[in-house]
Amino acid sequence: MAPCQVEGCKLEVPAALADSALCVHHYLVWLDGNCAAMRRETAAGATAERHDQIADFLREQGERLSHVATGGHRLSDDMKSRVLNEFLSLINLRENLERAMDRSARLRPAP
Ligand SMILES: [Zn+2]
Repeated sequence: MAPCQVEGCKLEVPAALADSALCVHHYLVWLDGNCAAMRRETAAGATAERHDQIADFLREQGERLSHVATGGHRLSDDMKSRVLNEFLSLINLRENLERAMDRSARLRPAP
């Protein structure tokens, strides 16, 4: 199994993260940073195109995270709770995204 691509990290990359070459820890750090950035972004509003991109991101990472969680790679209790927290981040980001789309639909009068 290949090691994590982050310099100095010697943790294993689980099969579910093979394409990203990140260990579970660094994958969660990456995902959390992205979710936080997208939440800030959607707070300021989102275009329909960006909405679709973020929706795709949510779908892909939700699937990947569930593979990490149930794919047979052994996780410590601490890591399990971080995985669950990350699911919560994805759910909250989805809610923010829907709210942003509702807001922009109200602001833009129907043609
Ligand atoms: Zn790592």
